[in-house]
Amino acid sequence: NRLKEGLTKAKKGITDRIDDVLKSYTKVDEELLEELEEILITADVGVNTTMNIIDSLRDKIKSKGITDPMDVRNELKIVVEELLGEENQKLDVTHSPTIILMVGVNGVGKTTTIGKLANRYKSEGKKVLLAAGDTFRAAAIEQLEVWANRSNVDIIKHQEGADPGAVIFDAVKAAKARKVDLLICDTAGRLHNKANLMNELGKVFKIVDREFPEAKKEVLLVVDATTGQNAVAQAKTFKEVADITGIVLTKLDGTAKGGVVLAVKSEVDVPVKLIGVGEKVEDLQDFDAKAFSDALFG
Ligand code: GDP
Repeated sequence: NRLKEGLTKAKKGITDRIDDVLKSYTKVDEELLEELEEILITADVGVNTTMNIIDSLRDKIKSKGITDPMDVRNELKIVVEELLGEENQKLDVTHSPTIILMVGVNGVGKTTTIGKLANRYKSEGKKVLLAAGDTFRAAAIEQLEVWANRSNVDIIKHQEGADPGAVIFDAVKAAKARKVDLLICDTAGRLHNKANLMNELGKVFKIVDREFPEAKKEVLLVVDATTGQNAVAQAKTFKEVADITGIVLTKLDGTAKGGVVLAVKSEVDVPVKLIGVGEKVEDLQDFDAKAFSDALFG
């Protein structure tokens, strides 16, 4: 399936390397655990998260009396599943109207994700409207328009350089007048520092809260999995300045370091709701912990 296909590189970078190590050992010892630790760290699982995983793995090996290295892989899969957690918090847009604010720095895949979401919900029969709130780049507005046309949904846009707040204001007005189910807003990704970020997003959020209180609000942070620990750092920063309700991890297909999902999950207390596994419209999936660890370790 698409998830497995999308995670091919990550599987090569993590599971296949783990298998190679396990095959080269005849007994389960600290040296083996150290090698696994190194693989996880280089796969962007992050040092803290890796330590936790290895500690849990060591406990499981001890309590279950595991002596065959090949049995370690299944234990690792169990530890990863436990870390990712049972409860899957899918993106829920059943309330009408719902507004989704997409935030994240330039290049992470924000526009693409908006396009994929617009397509998904339009084909489910919802009335969708897009707002081109990233007015700092003409290309961002044009690109969003391409996605809107592709999915045959309306878009509210102003000219390059316009006030993003004004775009969102108009979009909310249009959403009410046209009785849309789902308004998806792009926001500026040109964020120099925390104060600037807070200022830009703060204005937009205030308008939404004031003008569209009847809408259920989702704030999705998009981060690029190929940037590894940088994605974790971005998530931490955005979380400090905005009430992020979910994380979208894009480009998981483009990295051998799929471990970043584990790092985001354990180091940033916000659910990963969606993952991007390709550039095409169908390459957006609800994050499912079990399916993910199966695709990676199964
Ligand atoms: P934005 O600046 O955040 O709006 O980023 P874009 O949506 O323009 O995406 C930047 C690039 O990443 C484009 O070339 C997209 O096709 C690509 N991209 C976005 N999501 C994914 C994904 O899940 N997988 C892959 N391989 N590429 C992606």
